[in-house]
Amino acid sequence: MSPNRNKDVEDVLIMLSRSALWKLREFLHGIKLALLAALLVMGLSAWLNASVLFKTKDVFQPIFESIVTVTDVATMAQYRAELFSAALQLFAIILMAALANGAALYLGNWIGQRLLFELRCKLFDKLQSLSLGYFDRHRIGDFISRINNDTALIQGTIGSDLTRFIVTPLTALAMTILMIYISWRLTLGLAVAFPVVAMVTVVVGRYIRRYALRVQERLADLTSATEETLGAMRVVKVFGLEARVRERFGRENEGVFRGQMKAAVVRALTSPVVMGLVGLALCAALVFGGYELVAGRIEDGAGGLMAFILLLQGTGSHVNRLSRLYLGLQQADAAAGRIYEILGEQPDIVEAEDAVEIEDVSGAVSFEHVQFSYSEGYPVLREFTLEIAPGEKVAIAGPSGAGKTTVANLVPRLYDVDHGAVRIDGVDVRELRNAFLKSIMGIVPQETSLFSTTVRDNIAFGKSNASEEEIIAAAKAARAHEFITGLPHGYDTQVGERGVMLSGGQRQRIAIARALLRAPKIIILDEATSSLDTETESAIRAALQTLLRNRTAIIIAHRLSTIRDADRIIVIDEGRIVEQGTHDELMARDGLYRRLYETKELLAPNDLHDTDAE
Ligand code: ADP
Repeated sequence: MSPNRNKDVEDVLIMLSRSALWKLREFLHGIKLALLAALLVMGLSAWLNASVLFKTKDVFQPIFESIVTVTDVATMAQYRAELFSAALQLFAIILMAALANGAALYLGNWIGQRLLFELRCKLFDKLQSLSLGYFDRHRIGDFISRINNDTALIQGTIGSDLTRFIVTPLTALAMTILMIYISWRLTLGLAVAFPVVAMVTVVVGRYIRRYALRVQERLADLTSATEETLGAMRVVKVFGLEARVRERFGRENEGVFRGQMKAAVVRALTSPVVMGLVGLALCAALVFGGYELVAGRIEDGAGGLMAFILLLQGTGSHVNRLSRLYLGLQQADAAAGRIYEILGEQPDIVEAEDAVEIEDVSGAVSFEHVQFSYSEGYPVLREFTLEIAPGEKVAIAGPSGAGKTTVANLVPRLYDVDHGAVRIDGVDVRELRNAFLKSIMGIVPQETSLFSTTVRDNIAFGKSNASEEEIIAAAKAARAHEFITGLPHGYDTQVGERGVMLSGGQRQRIAIARALLRAPKIIILDEATSSLDTETESAIRAALQTLLRNRTAIIIAHRLSTIRDADRIIVIDEGRIVEQGTHDELMARDGLYRRLYETKELLAPNDLHDTDAE
């Protein structure tokens, strides 16, 4: 073997051992019994498929004999009886083969679909386990593509073709065994064609795999382009970017098309090569089979030769199918590799093994010399130290990009600090149980995301197993009950993408109700900057007062009323605390706070009127 050929073989071996598809077997552990049953049925099905062709010899034989040696009426009648009986037996085998094939197909599909089901679950769980930092670094479209397009590719192969993967080679094997039985010399003579077919398939398979990987990457780009466009439709419309967006989409789409066509060319070339080789073997079998028949070396004579030819033809088409399946397998493997890339990700925020809960949380929050960066080398918070007493309300102010949201993100441990620690009642948040940490906190974000479900469910996300009374009480306290009962189906009204669109103020009150439902010790509030009508404004002000009562609160404030109500205002700039005190104290000082206040950078548009009025 040339060193080059050696390398080819080595490549294939490495590829097989690293095969991502092979890793999918982890999902088969739970269904060993079904797998065993499927293998048995598939083996039976393969054997019966081959037997059908083999059995034709008993049908052909009396026909040939009667042509060549017919003498009297009695012998004729005997041949006829033999023919009928053989045909009947053949039909019985065909029926059994058909039943076995059906059962094998069903079991194969069940296993394949089960495997995909588990894969999708695991992939989704993985996505949930990854921290926000991971999503900051990756495109959403890429995920969607991996979940949709890559699993679909595996689905196409494993989901529906799993049966064929097993039955096809087994059938080819069974047929070869029967061919050997009829004439081992002829079988051996023809066997030389098979290594050639195998080599061609493996070499082509490598190209297909490479192209498949590229196509899946292009598909991910395409999905990202679509997803980003949909997400930014408002911007696209407002700025008239349709043509630009269309051009990008066209480019990505073209990439997918070209990639697919490259794979198609290689695939289209394989089939004729394999078929040509099989045809050559067939013709050779006819010629040499004739010689062997005359020499009396064929089991069951002319009928045997006919069955041999049929078996050869059958083996050929199964080998051809196998080579196509192998190419499909290469594509699916490329897709599985992309899925395992995500499955292999280590979440950067992991609950400690010995994580604890705090009994009777008082709600003290402290930042101790915290340094934090989203991307390495660019710290957003530096030496950030802050003590918040239980029940204290702290408003965080500062110019845009100063790090206000970041401070708020660290308390529920959406990200981990680089140095220092964030503590609750003196316990590092990294030592707390994740579910516990979330359960003591109510978070009201600036923009409330609603899920496509009922108003009731949207509020109930705050606390699983919340009772109807609790939900309504929370909605009342959040001043949301009134508008909810005014909706077409009250608490059962569908909201979100496929339902009623709620206004910014209404969404916010739902978020407040959600947070209230938890009866949390700590509130993290990112006030909306959008302007609201006066009525909504006062409803929200009242809702917030209820929300904040007797709780520790960290507020990114945009309303003068909230700022005034705060016990302390922390002014941060470039990730450091530059000033702190009450509104009046800070105004008396000629610092950043006063400057921000006077240049109106601090407050929401509505509140600017308030300041003007003063
Ligand atoms: P603020 O809330 O005061 O406007 P942020 O805390 O949102 O400020 O942001 C502080 C800095 O961190 C900014 O420079 C911002 O660009 C950066 N930043 C915020 N979020 C991310 C993120 N998810 N990934 C990378 N950088 C971020």
